[in-house]
Amino acid sequence: MYDINSRKAEEFISHEEILDTLAYADANKDNIELIDAIIEKARQRKGLTHREASVLLACQNEEKMEEVYNLAKEIKHDYYGDRIVLFAPLYLSNYCVNGCVYCPYHAKNKHISRKKLTQEDIVREVTALQDMGHKRLAIEAGEDPVNNPIEYILECIDTIYSIKHKNGAIRRVNVNIAATTVENYRKLKEAGIGTYILFQETYHKESYEQLHPTGPKHNYAYHTEAMDRAMEGGIDDVGLGVLFGLEMYRYEFAGLLMHAEHLEAVHGVGPHTISVPRIKHADDIDPTAFDNGISDEIFAKLCALIRISVPYTGMIISTRESQEVREKVLPLGVSQISGASRTSVGGYAEKEAKEDSSEQFDVSDNRTLDEVVNWLMKMGHIPSFCTACYREGRTGDRFMALCKSMQILNCCHPNALMTLKEYLEDYASEETKELGNALIERELENITNPKVKQTAREYIHNIAGGKRDFRF
Ligand code: SAM
Repeated sequence: MYDINSRKAEEFISHEEILDTLAYADANKDNIELIDAIIEKARQRKGLTHREASVLLACQNEEKMEEVYNLAKEIKHDYYGDRIVLFAPLYLSNYCVNGCVYCPYHAKNKHISRKKLTQEDIVREVTALQDMGHKRLAIEAGEDPVNNPIEYILECIDTIYSIKHKNGAIRRVNVNIAATTVENYRKLKEAGIGTYILFQETYHKESYEQLHPTGPKHNYAYHTEAMDRAMEGGIDDVGLGVLFGLEMYRYEFAGLLMHAEHLEAVHGVGPHTISVPRIKHADDIDPTAFDNGISDEIFAKLCALIRISVPYTGMIISTRESQEVREKVLPLGVSQISGASRTSVGGYAEKEAKEDSSEQFDVSDNRTLDEVVNWLMKMGHIPSFCTACYREGRTGDRFMALCKSMQILNCCHPNALMTLKEYLEDYASEETKELGNALIERELENITNPKVKQTAREYIHNIAGGKRDFRF
């Protein structure tokens, strides 16, 4: 029985409700009157339910889809402006006891190099990341209670925050580790993490159990209910995602939105972010072995529909996607991207020999952070290294409330410009610096509140003079 308020995975992600939703979407995919009404609801920034959004996903009418894409662009522009926040993943350890069949870290893989960063290694990795200009990390680890217990993760977070190299600093650490207990989530919250990210991989229980045949991750309910425990532990910024390619994308999309609706209904706050990873080639993983791979067109459609369905939820695209695909989907609603990522353990400080690889998957966008920043600006985006919200206590429903009232524009836009200025001063190439300074001058003029405009100007002047870390 479907129950949005239930704390049981199989009730808030009800298989029957998803099947009914897909049947409803098929029955209405040419119902133009209904489709117009759904698009109109989204236009009023009311978001969409999983049923409504699934109708649009099933709809093949090109004219209507054009409307959806244009609306996604508008909504992205209204709530996120031209800003794109940058981050990098940091792999702490690839020891893993699980058997995930799509991931080369699965326990049976005997030829991948198993590595775990020491605190000294972390200093080297984070120094290398700071020297690129990164301020925001997502830490990644396999699940292994012996090698990667929560104490290890907490120690790593402490070390990361403590490293101050030249003008560098990591100001926000997001965490992508396996589902855990309320008590451990509480500890992560106390350690000062930003978002807790956990991909569902698939919402289809039967497939989930086949794709995770062994290890603690096999437990569908424990994994699916993790975000409820995280919120119970005080983490109010959580990041959802499915690994597209594992199951039928229409099923996953409905499940993803049902999960978002559930969090909003029970905890009063929806997901902070949604990630949209697709399976990639990796050590002993062949993505073509999975039947449900999606085309770039479907991928773009999913991005646009997520944007109009949950307007206040950030959307993340990693370097799993190529420059070309990223260019296509950025305007459709993406708010964060990773740049210059390494998916190996220790890969920032040292290049690994091929026979010693610890990589999780192949990266499709191999550019440096300077190249990514430069490229973003040339396309009219504003690269942002901002981490202000959670440091100012604007998390969970406080963030959502600000976002809904569009007040976030009064802080995010100047914060983006100030953090970009820091990047230009400390890390950028000459060409990027020139482009960036011109962009900042132009964008300062677009700040409507005269007081904010004046203060932002002063702060930017002070950054040029060597001061750092201003924020609204
Ligand atoms: N081990 C943690 C867990 O179980 O949730 C999370 C960390 S894992 C390093 C991050 C994510 O990488 C996984 O949730 C999965 O979706 C994704 N991933 C695994 N194998 C992949 C592959 N071959 N291609 C693309 N993404 C993959």
